[in-house]
Amino acid sequence: MSGRELGQTAGTAASAEAIGLLTFPFRLPIETEQGMEGGCTCGQIRYRLAGNPLIVHACHCRWCQRETGTAHALNALYEADRVTHIAGEPELIVTPSASGKGQTIARCPTCKVAVWSNYPQAGPTVRFVRVGTMDGPEQYPPDIHILPPRSSRG
Ligand SMILES: [Zn+2]
Ligand SMILES: [Zn+2]
Repeated sequence: MSGRELGQTAGTAASAEAIGLLTFPFRLPIETEQGMEGGCTCGQIRYRLAGNPLIVHACHCRWCQRETGTAHALNALYEADRVTHIAGEPELIVTPSASGKGQTIARCPTCKVAVWSNYPQAGPTVRFVRVGTMDGPEQYPPDIHILPPRSSRG
């Protein structure tokens, strides 16, 4: 992969080393006075996030593209105890995943919008919060982009 291609895809945040890695240089947690809130489209599910995410990643794999119907997923990783449901409880739907182990996606029971998910690789203690459901998604642009090997791109 050339640097030029990476730059076009990833903007300024990514580095060549970041591609395809699932271990990241975690940034320092900077506690915010008031956590971010967010929720689903119909308003039944609302959540509050404590502090800043461990990392924000944009995954461009075919699985994420299919699931979101767009170019990439945008997930902010939070420890599960930093994600508080303040209205409603999402339903947890086990969805096929690339690893074959399935991921659990938390969706609004009414409008079915996905607000976060658990991946088996990261375990139940880390929630992948969908940045697009936050009230202020512009605060959390991706720290890295994850691109699949060229051979498996769609
Ligand atoms: Zn809803
Ligand atoms: Zn993906």
